[in-house]
Amino acid sequence: MTAINPLHGIGTLVNHVAEGGDPLNAHIAPVYQTSTFRFPDVDTGAARFRGEEDGFIYTRYDNPNFRTVAAKAAALEGLDLLRAEPQRPAEEIVAARVFASGMAAITSAVLARVKGGQTIVAQESLYGATFNFFHDVAPQFGIRLAWVSDPSPEGWERALRENPGAPLVYAESPVNPTLKVVDLAAAAEAAHCHGAWLMVDNTFASPFCQRPLSLGADIVAHATTKYLAGHGVVVGGVVVSRHPEYVAGPLYTALKIYGGCPSPFDCWLTTLGLKTFELRMQRHCANALAVARWLETHPRIERVYYPGLESRPDHDLAARQMVGGFGGMVSFEVRGGLAAGKALMESLRVCTLAVSLGNTDSLICHPATMTHSALAPVDRLAMGISDGLVRFSVGIENVEDILADLEQGLAKT
Ligand code: PLP
Repeated sequence: MTAINPLHGIGTLVNHVAEGGDPLNAHIAPVYQTSTFRFPDVDTGAARFRGEEDGFIYTRYDNPNFRTVAAKAAALEGLDLLRAEPQRPAEEIVAARVFASGMAAITSAVLARVKGGQTIVAQESLYGATFNFFHDVAPQFGIRLAWVSDPSPEGWERALRENPGAPLVYAESPVNPTLKVVDLAAAAEAAHCHGAWLMVDNTFASPFCQRPLSLGADIVAHATTKYLAGHGVVVGGVVVSRHPEYVAGPLYTALKIYGGCPSPFDCWLTTLGLKTFELRMQRHCANALAVARWLETHPRIERVYYPGLESRPDHDLAARQMVGGFGGMVSFEVRGGLAAGKALMESLRVCTLAVSLGNTDSLICHPATMTHSALAPVDRLAMGISDGLVRFSVGIENVEDILADLEQGLAKT
């Protein structure tokens, strides 16, 4: 099985890490579509249950296809940490586990770190289901929330001072769907000053653009559903951490007990998707920047949100922390509000009206009535999600075709 060589580039890592270990020498590893694994004898089975011998037991616990995705995700998110200590074994620096969805990854990672009676310090603008988890579900476990409406260094510091002993700070950047950029290095510093860990949802940026562990984060979660798998055919998640003992201990327990494991076939598809990750991300970023610049000058567009635009107030911060590019997500408001936005979304032909993001093809959706519809209108407005906001996941099609489609759609608004 090929180990991580941190001197390799992203394109090489995603193609070679954790490959080549098939016992029958299949070039592309097969799908281990099995629920359970044979033990050669009782003592071996017992030793595996005790964690004294490495090996597979049961697919809810682990599966070879899970390990392939986890190793590639760890190599991507941990790239800078691994490069800083090339002599140290990679598994001492970074570790990962895969889950059934982005939400299974996020909820398992949080519940593996925070107990009833403790407080999570979380930014207020978050992906809708994460917000609902913190707002409505975590309190049922006795977990308290300290919301940070201003995720600036002072905002984090204030919340942490007011909540001593909080074990977790939770951030998302760029934020879904407003694309606000949060200073992750400052969040990590504030968290560590108060003995907390920083967890970051890196789904929107992807490790091609931004690697939160390099900025000091302790845990990174992803919906692999999006850019990592990339083709819109799987739902999955992954958690990567610079604390291997957390991944092997409480996170593994959360996986086994909550049972949020993915299917081997979905992990096989994710592995396939990851092989073109770098190429896809280069195109997503280039197309999104071109679309954002084009929209910014269009007379029918009120406002454009994209961290790569020099006109955005957080552009300098984005340029510092999004080292690989500004990502493939663009949000905007059409003049004429919701009615105009609806007319645009319903008349596009190259871009599909659908939620989700990070697919090879362009997707457009309406956060207020779709991804963030479970939130109270007041919470949505506090997050900056107006009824006229449109979210655009810019695909890897030829950019002139995307622009022509937007042009004919805007003409109908
Ligand atoms: N995090 C972000 C930023 C998302 O946009 C999403 C889904 O859209 C998720 C997490 C949840 O991922 P999944 O749908 O795979 O559970």
